Order: sequence, then C-alpha cells, then structure tokens
Amino acid sequence: MSARWRWLVGGGLVAASLGYLLLPVSDLQDTYYVTVAALSVVAATAGVWIHTPRRLRIWAAFIGGMSCWVAGDAVWTYLSRVLHVDPFPSVADVLYLAGYPLMALGLAFLVRGRQPGRDRAAALDAAIIATGVGVVAAVFVIEPLVTDASQDALGRLVGTAYPIGDVLLVALLARLWTRPGRALRSFWFLLVSLVCFLVSDIAYNVMLIANGGDVTADWVDALLLLGYAFVAMATLDPSVRDLSIPAPDRTEGLTPSRLAVLTVAAMLAPAALLLDGVLGRRLHWQIIGLGSIVLIGLVMTRVSGLLQRVQEQAAALTALARDDGLTGLPNRRTWDFELARACSASHQDGEPLHVALLDLDHFKAFNDAYGHPTGDLLLQAATATWRAALPADAFLARYGGEEFALLFRGLDGAEAHAAVDRLRALTPLRQTFSAGIARWDGTEEPAAVLARADAALYEAKRSGRDRVLVSQGTHRIRPGGSQPTGPHSGT
Ligand code: GH3
Ligand code: MG
Ligand code: MG
Repeated sequence: MSARWRWLVGGGLVAASLGYLLLPVSDLQDTYYVTVAALSVVAATAGVWIHTPRRLRIWAAFIGGMSCWVAGDAVWTYLSRVLHVDPFPSVADVLYLAGYPLMALGLAFLVRGRQPGRDRAAALDAAIIATGVGVVAAVFVIEPLVTDASQDALGRLVGTAYPIGDVLLVALLARLWTRPGRALRSFWFLLVSLVCFLVSDIAYNVMLIANGGDVTADWVDALLLLGYAFVAMATLDPSVRDLSIPAPDRTEGLTPSRLAVLTVAAMLAPAALLLDGVLGRRLHWQIIGLGSIVLIGLVMTRVSGLLQRVQEQAAALTALARDDGLTGLPNRRTWDFELARACSASHQDGEPLHVALLDLDHFKAFNDAYGHPTGDLLLQAATATWRAALPADAFLARYGGEEFALLFRGLDGAEAHAAVDRLRALTPLRQTFSAGIARWDGTEEPAAVLARADAALYEAKRSGRDRVLVSQGTHRIRPGGSQPTGPHSGT
C-alpha cells in the first residue's frame, strides 16, 4: 500500500470520526458510529497485516481490545435502539470490560519490548503518577459509584470496573511516558489514541455521576472514535515495524517537566482531602490516608535512589579529580597536596623527607618504535611493578607524561637512593629511567625541594641517563653510585 493510500485511509477515518459530531442524535448516528469504529478496527488489522511488525502480540492485544469495545458498542446500540431495553448492565458491559485488560496487556507488551530489563526510576515515577490519579479516581468516581443507591449490586460492580480499568491504563501510559524510548511516528499515533480513549472514558464516568446516569455528549463518543482511528494510523504507518525495537539506554534524569508532573501527582491526595472539605462532602479519610502513605513511600524510595546515585557520582568524581586515568596513580594535583602535607609533618616530627623525580629515558623513541598504545601499556606495567616493590609508606604519583614523583618519609639518603635504584632494575622491557633525589632541608618551600630533585634529574639525563643522582644541599649534585643497566646506556 502506497504512502498516499495509507494517509488517505487514516486521515479519512480521523475525518469520519469528527464527522460524527455533525450528525443529529438518531439511529443513523449510532449506526454511523459503529460503522466508523468497525472500519478503524479493519484498517488497524490491515496495517498489521501489511507491515507485520515485530512482537505481533502487542497488536493482537490492542486490536483485540478495540474489537471488544466496538462489539460492546454494537451490542449496546442493538439493545437500546432495536430492542429498546436498558443496556446497563448487559453483555455490552462484559465486552467493554474485556477490552481493558487486553488494552493493558498490549501496553505492557509494548513497554517490555521497548525497554527490556528493569528501570526502577521509571517504574517508581509511573507508580507515583498512577497512585495520585488513583486516589482522585477513588474519591471522586469509584467511591460514588460503589455507594450509588440507584444501582443494584451488579450494576455497582460493573460501574466501578470502568474507572478501575482507566486507572490501570493511566498507570501503563505513565510507564510509557517515564521512559518513552524511540520517538517514532507510530508511537505518537498510539499515544494520541490512548489519551483519546482515556479522556473520553473519564469524561463519560464523570458525567455519569454528575448527571445521574444519563450521558449524551457527542464529543465523548467522537473522542473514542478518534482513538480507534489513531490506532489505525499507528499500524498503517511503516514505522510500526520498529516500534518495539529496544531503545538505546538513555537514562533521563529528573527533567523539569517530569518533576512538575511528579509534584502534582504527589499532591493529588492532599488536594482531594482539601476538596472534600471545601465541598462539605464526607471526608474520604481511609482512601486519602492510605493513598498518602503509599505516595510518601514511593517518593522517598525515589529520593533515596537519587541520593545513592549522587553519592556514587561524587565518589567517582573524587577519584577522577585525584587519580590519573591511565595508571591509577595519584595525579599531580594530589602530589602537590601530599608534598605540602609531608613537609609540614616532617617539620613537626623531624623525620627525614626525600623527594625523587623519575623520567623514562628516550620514551619518545619507544613510542615511535612500538606505538603509543604499547607505550601506554608500558607505563601501566612499570607503575604497577614499582608500586608493588616500594615500601608501604612511600608515595608514588604520576607527575606528568612519563615523569613520576616519589616521597619517602623516615628513610635516610642512602635508603631512599637504594629504593629508587631498585625500581630501575624492575622496570619492564628493559626500559630505563633517570632520577633525581633531593632531601627536604626542613625550611624550604615544597616547590624548592622539588626543583632541586628536578635539577638532579636533569643532571642525570645530561650525564648519560639510566642513573639516579642525589642533590647535595641547594647546589651540588652527587652521583648516587648507581650503575647504568638499560639498553640506552651503551653497556
Ligand atoms: P628523555 O630521555 O630525554 O626523557 O627522552 P624522552 O623521549 O623520554 O622525553 P621527551 O620529553 O622528548 O618525550 C616524552 C615522551 O613521552 C613523549 C610522549 O609521547 C611520551 N608520553 C608522555 N605521556 C605519555 C603517555 O601517556 N603515553 C605514552 N604512550 N607516551 C607518553
Ligand atoms: Mg619527560
Ligand atoms: Mg623521558
């Protein structure tokens, strides 16, 4: 079927639904209604037939539910127009009510198909909305129907089943809204149709109570017809094929509109209480009290989930800010902090403090020869090996690209030197490094001792690399006595 035909059929059904409003209340109008509704069911079925969308059960349930409702309308019209009997309650109601679980099943299949796996936040949000709406429905629609003296027990039971079915649809619609997945045209048509069904049904129920049983509002019927027509639009659109493809996992936070809807939903229970009081009605304290407890429980569960996420993110951010991503070592920012802290600690307890700077030799050449990723692997392997070999209280940080900084507290010069020298032999792939060590003089700025270690490192590089030199005082630099070991040393 070409696109033009699809639009012609779908658009024609929408127009025919609105055309219902032009007809006078009559047998003809009722026949027209049932005919247009039945045609929509046929068109919707044809759409499924043509496009064979995935998860056929979604559409089997929707079309089954719709068929029940249309059949109910047909029976209703036959009973009231032809047989002239009161059609409530009757087989028509059995058909109407059978439509709700089928529709709900279709929605549930759709939600499952589009978002496999669990989404606690989306489910909680939907539950909050459904509970708020449920309390209002219970107070203003269901309870009056339950206590309706003009109906017998069966009539009351059947009458209350409708709004309960509507609340069920609201819950599933809310679930679809809280995590909508891919926004396809077919999806929007379906959403419009469901909203039409709901608004029409709720309006019908409200009028039923307000007018004492007599509802003759054409727009309510027209809205239901529109709902049918839009299901046909949804299945006739080719995007129906992909409607139940799982959506990419995109966790939506609490957007302002979502927050606004949740706030209103959570306030519906207390608002119902206020309204009871303002209207001077009997207070529905049981429903409202219970509903409020459930709502508060849901909101607090949602808040605790958010709080947990914030804490996890804060921990992740702290780690990101403190550590280097490649090696997992503390980064330069943390190093600066630790160095200052170590200086003041040594100032207090008089323990010796040594600072060492390590720089891999000819690492650019290594990268050029073996590639940057291999260079990365070497950095990871080297730092992991060093870390394992260092005394527990030594502090190792990544100072820059292939430069590392070390802090030793409580070691004398020879011990610090030996500790750094041990690392040279442990560096993987016979990679070498040069290092400079400086002892904090007890008074200088942390930056000054670091500068002296750097000067010693520079000297180590200049005098042939693959060695450890110790800075003497503020000027002199003494060879640490280490022997070159690596491939670049020429040995
Ligand atoms: P020298 O012996 O004088 O220190 O020579 P060098 O090549 O090691 O020194 P240079 O400063 O010229 O180059 C440092 C190299 O370290 C260049 C850069 O590609 C490499 N490097 C820095 N950070 C990383 C990194 O995270 N991963 C890799 N693979 N290489 C890095
Ligand atoms: Mg360097
Ligand atoms: Mg280097």
